[in-house]
Amino acid sequence: MRFDILTLFPQLCDTIAGESIIGRGIKNGYLQVCCHNIRDYTLSKQARVDDAPYGGGRGMVLQCQPIDDCFAAVVRETGSRPHFIYMSPKGKTLTQQRVRELSRMEHIAILCGHYEGVDQRVLDKLVDEEISVGDYVLTGGELPAMTLVDAVGRLIPGVLSEDACFEEESHFKGMLEYPQYTRPAAWQGREVPEVLLTGHHDNIARWRLEESLRLTLERRPDMLKALLLRDEERKILEGLKETK
Ligand code: SAM
Repeated sequence: MRFDILTLFPQLCDTIAGESIIGRGIKNGYLQVCCHNIRDYTLSKQARVDDAPYGGGRGMVLQCQPIDDCFAAVVRETGSRPHFIYMSPKGKTLTQQRVRELSRMEHIAILCGHYEGVDQRVLDKLVDEEISVGDYVLTGGELPAMTLVDAVGRLIPGVLSEDACFEEESHFKGMLEYPQYTRPAAWQGREVPEVLLTGHHDNIARWRLEESLRLTLERRPDMLKALLLRDEERKILEGLKETK
């Protein structure tokens, strides 16, 4: 899978992409992350990429031409038109469900805005989808873009050591993950739950399911409403609600 990032700060995205699991996935050839400096495509002699907003107001707005030409260069270079996403606080909030859908695509380009945002006309012309990482405003689209690359990239087969690594995680099955523990078994008077030390796989699986449901009920009851529960899960949940 290939990501093309259109940004004013390619080094920032390159640095993030080069580290940890995504960095290893890139080195091992499971995904590609190519960063493009929008400024390289401006036709302005002063290398401008922004201007004041029409109608007045504070800040600067990214202009159409450099973004349009940068995207055209990506299409030319790769020989295909990628699904084009603009990271924006006005977009649809990113969910694990959308992340899974995006992980099935072969080629995604991501536009990172800056300053007050991007001239609407180039968004109308090129962008397929606007995605937000949450109801707050960041300085630029680089961290949101790399959040998306990380969330999607780790679902690409081969990037994690086993698919089971993410199938058990929070949000994958519509609930939060159970608590995790590692050595030592006792730390500053706090013990690891005994069942985890027994090696009894069925009991451990049951404990984990119960803890997942308990946490989801406590912290994200909204998620449970959307969940299609199996009989076993429904019984556990009813028990948890009674003891609440
Ligand atoms: N004036 C814009 C508004 O009120 O909607 C905010 C612009 S913000 C300062 C600059 C850029 O950061 C945006 O163009 C967008 O690319 C990115 N950005 C900021 N917050 C974001 C969020 N929650 N999700 C995704 N991108 C975000």
